[in-house]
Amino acid sequence: MSTNNTVKFKKDLKRWYAMSNKEICNKFDVDPNVGLSSQEAQRRLELEGPNKLEEAKQTSNIVIFLKTFLDPLAILMVFAGILSVILPLALKITLKGENIAGICVIFGVVLVNSLISSIQEIKAHKSLNALKSLAEPKTIVIRDGKQIEIPVENIVRGDIVCIETGKFIPADIRIIESPKLRVDESALTGESLPVEKITKSLMNKEMVLGDQINLGFMSTFITDGRAVGVVFATGKYSAVGQIASSIANTKQKKSPLQNKLSQLTLWVSIFAVLLGSLIFTIMFLESNRTPENLVDALIFSISAAVSLIPESIMIIVTIALSISARKMADRKVIVKTFNAIETLGAVNVICSDKTGTLTQNKMTILKVFSNNQIQDQRLYRYNKNDPQSFHFINALMLCSDSISEGGVQIGDPTELALTNWTQLLKLNELKYREMYPRLDEIPFNSDKKLMTTVNEVDGKRIVYTKGALDELLKRCSKTYVDGEIVTLTKAMKIEIQEKCTPLLEEALRVLGFAYTVQNPRLDEYDQHEVFLGCVAMMDPPRNEAKTAIKRANDSGIRVIMITGDHKITALEIAKRLGISNTKFYEGLTGEEIDQLNDAEFNEKLKTTNVFARVNPEHKTRIVEALQSQGKIVAMTGDGVNDSPSLAKADVGIAMGMSGTDVAKESAKVILADDNFATIISGVREGRNVYEKIKRSIAFLLGANLSQILTILIVLSITALSGEKYGTPDGIIKALGDINVLWHILAVETILAIPIGMAHSKETLMAYAPRNAKESVFKWILWEILSMAIIHTTCAVAAFFIAAVSMDDAQAGSTAAYVVIIFAPVFYVWTTQTRNYSVKVARDKAEKMRINEWMIAAMVFAFILNIGTLVVPGINSGFKIAMNMHFWIWGVSFALAFATFLLKWFENYCFRKIYQHIHRDELTVASFNFRKKQIRDEKKKLRTAKKLRVQIRKQKIKSKIAKLSKELRNS
Ligand code: ATP
Repeated sequence: MSTNNTVKFKKDLKRWYAMSNKEICNKFDVDPNVGLSSQEAQRRLELEGPNKLEEAKQTSNIVIFLKTFLDPLAILMVFAGILSVILPLALKITLKGENIAGICVIFGVVLVNSLISSIQEIKAHKSLNALKSLAEPKTIVIRDGKQIEIPVENIVRGDIVCIETGKFIPADIRIIESPKLRVDESALTGESLPVEKITKSLMNKEMVLGDQINLGFMSTFITDGRAVGVVFATGKYSAVGQIASSIANTKQKKSPLQNKLSQLTLWVSIFAVLLGSLIFTIMFLESNRTPENLVDALIFSISAAVSLIPESIMIIVTIALSISARKMADRKVIVKTFNAIETLGAVNVICSDKTGTLTQNKMTILKVFSNNQIQDQRLYRYNKNDPQSFHFINALMLCSDSISEGGVQIGDPTELALTNWTQLLKLNELKYREMYPRLDEIPFNSDKKLMTTVNEVDGKRIVYTKGALDELLKRCSKTYVDGEIVTLTKAMKIEIQEKCTPLLEEALRVLGFAYTVQNPRLDEYDQHEVFLGCVAMMDPPRNEAKTAIKRANDSGIRVIMITGDHKITALEIAKRLGISNTKFYEGLTGEEIDQLNDAEFNEKLKTTNVFARVNPEHKTRIVEALQSQGKIVAMTGDGVNDSPSLAKADVGIAMGMSGTDVAKESAKVILADDNFATIISGVREGRNVYEKIKRSIAFLLGANLSQILTILIVLSITALSGEKYGTPDGIIKALGDINVLWHILAVETILAIPIGMAHSKETLMAYAPRNAKESVFKWILWEILSMAIIHTTCAVAAFFIAAVSMDDAQAGSTAAYVVIIFAPVFYVWTTQTRNYSVKVARDKAEKMRINEWMIAAMVFAFILNIGTLVVPGINSGFKIAMNMHFWIWGVSFALAFATFLLKWFENYCFRKIYQHIHRDELTVASFNFRKKQIRDEKKKLRTAKKLRVQIRKQKIKSKIAKLSKELRNS
């Protein structure tokens, strides 16, 4: 937009609120009932650009790379490297080829480390951005006379947008329809209370944003009511866009695991310095103590110490988390931060909504309560001349926004059940709504659990209300008895509720209806209404929910149902799903919760899994109580008011389909299909990724430690024994610098990355969730030690077998090198089978799935290793003693393979010992993991088959089209 235009635009901005609805529509050349045409919208989009705020400039890859050198560890390593170069220069010593290799190790590690860190940061950024785009907001606009949903980015000036409660206002709009609209503008104006909006034009004078109450601003959200508005400013031209022309990218906080790994790297570095100093001291003391020996010892000890640092850990963690985030997205769990994946794996309570998450949200009316009796819906007879019947059916059709006409199903499932039923009675809701136009409304609100409309019926203003029976009865003072309106006494109210109880016990949702002629002197509608009757509707539980709850229970996760529905209905559904059982048999309502103090509430929580008729504040109280008991809580939510509880929970999960923008914003996870079973797949993935990361850390550190320990032990033993094995200077290095570099940068990295890419294990769901306070190193330390002990022993043994039998230190080093580089190729496989606390019957345990990546990595590393031994030129660089006896080669390879067998045996013994010690705590999972695995496999095959059939059909179609075109042409 040119400067002139901007000036004009700014001038215009002042006037939007002073314009009448008609003026604003004329200005943008749009009919509010028809909206823009698609072509015109496209033209405007190209002209004005997308409706998004300018993003902060991304840090360039070079800067990210350079920044990694500011890390204290990198500074330390660079300092060590520089020292290794400066010291010989100062002492005027010419460096040997070996020393240069050592310096290369040091700088090589620093460089690779920095490269890896920057790749990891760039990759993490990309994958999170990709995930963010999955949750991109959409909005409803009227175009070509139809309501359609479009990405918020595609909104243009002149678009007619329709926004409902919980949605962010997608651009700056002039409100032209606003039944009881209230907007939270705190993000823009700082005003904490929602502002009531109007449609009338305001005075044409300067006004602050907060006073422009007929305008809706981008990034604010609707707390009540709904709005229709004409867009007058988009993207950076909107009020928020002008205040902050750029918004900062949300900086990703490191996950607790990533933080702990940074700590681990620090500790390992300290340990490396200690071991390095030890190596240096022994080497220097053992030598002739000449300046050359000093330089030699220094460079070698620094490169050996540097080799202990597990530089590829971070990239492995990022790869594992990125893969998991993608897998989760495939399973319809969209995580907004890597942190959430980790926490999801540790969850031990899931508080889930009922409607739509545990149930199908497909409601059908089964029974009708009218004239004090329950009858099957099929037996209900509509009589237009009977005022009770007339208003009852009117209330069903008029006090609702859903449309069921001609098979089209638009709207809230509860309301759709009503219009679907009236369609069965051969009544058309759209015609009725045209006949009896709506004059005003109070939209449904889950706090009040009621909805009210005012319609003009035969010249009178009739107020219709529908909602939860208990809430509705509170505002009714009359009812019909035998066609006459009589006073509704307290006793009669109790009687109605008692008569409806059997309906609730059948897990039906009971919705009551009332009406009144509006009192012109009263602004409020909820006074002295006439109770008309109720309908009872069924919302069947989701088929997969029961299995998912069983899986959750088996994995030590408690599932709590939180619903706005009636307690009896909720308890019945909970029983059917297995949420309510002999241990957790109670239900509590919001009102009952309010009566309890914290101690009493905590006590009740021990037996209560169902919370009914709750308001959003109760959800926060439930989360807090559970957290005070040390639980990690996942909480689902969809409404505006659910934000505090979603933010409070350890993992807030917003509903992707039915959730409001506000809920999605506060949550860490978005459930694309609103399905409870999907949460459990998320938990499974979370647990798996945690395990995989732990396994790769253990592997990397174990292998790194083995190498430095081998060097240290060989050095110490030869120093103590005085054996020289034919070395001229008497310093025996079990591994040369280049061999060290090869091992840490090639072998380990190639092998460790596929650990994070392994298939997720179903059986992990047989574990109880890990203790939140549990250290990430819980079994890692043992794993590292066992790996290092086995690996080092075999490598040291190989060294002495070769060195002693051939009296040649180089042969010893070659044998040790063979064990050091080949052993991990074999024993990396044991990371696949590591399991501790699982106790599943054999026939129920899943079959291990081969990690194809790992096999490929093992083969690749094996071939590369062989290359360093046999390729002429390379093997001399690696100082391979080609004259080594054949049997010593055999023994070295056998020792390398023995590490795998020993590690496998250690795993087996450890598991048995662990299971014996913890036998009382271990629950035997009754879930059949093998069956689940087979079911999943079949499902995958079916989808693949369907896809293949589709592709084939597509190909045939295009072939036919091509042939018929040829035929026509010829
Ligand atoms: P959840 O289980 O996810 O909390 P819910 O549908 O049970 O969902 P709400 O949507 O808060 O919870 O509804 C609470 C009560 O309000 C319902 O039991 C029902 O009686 C009533 N109700 C639901 N939808 C409507 C509606 N559109 N109009 C009027 N009353 C409604």
